[in-house]
Amino acid sequence: MINEKVGKILNSQVNKELYSAYLYLSMSAYFSDKGLLGFANWMRIQAQEEQAHAMLIYDFLINRGEKVVLTAIDAPPNNWENSLSVMEEVLKHEVYVTGLINDIISIAEEVKDRATISYMNWFIDEQVEEEANSQDIISKLKLIGEDKSALYLLDKDLAARVFVQPTINGK
Ligand code: MG
Repeated sequence: MINEKVGKILNSQVNKELYSAYLYLSMSAYFSDKGLLGFANWMRIQAQEEQAHAMLIYDFLINRGEKVVLTAIDAPPNNWENSLSVMEEVLKHEVYVTGLINDIISIAEEVKDRATISYMNWFIDEQVEEEANSQDIISKLKLIGEDKSALYLLDKDLAARVFVQPTINGK
């Protein structure tokens, strides 16, 4: 059994993670269209990760005896000014998600739901990484500026990213 408020906010987080997946898939499509296939690959894996985050919370809800209720996913934007503005939106979005995760833990703390606090702590660590990863690409893009051959090399680097299934406590 799970507290009603905690169940509600966790259900809402499933939707937010799926929206994140949708947003990053849209960004992947944008990069494919621009011929930046390494960036497109990075975003596609980012989308896969977000889908996996949604499923981690989905499974947690089921394990706690809560019904999962899926709601409509908002349409993401599909156009940006340039690569830098895409990555700046990623960072902004991840900072927003960090706030959402903090809110979940605050509510779980109010009702002393230690299982949710413990599980969601994994997401706290994950958010530090998410923010650092996007910040790292932003810094590189700022260094690159208008240098097309440097952009080509960064795109090549991002092409090497592979999807690793996220797990919590080995599950
Ligand atoms: Mg996420």
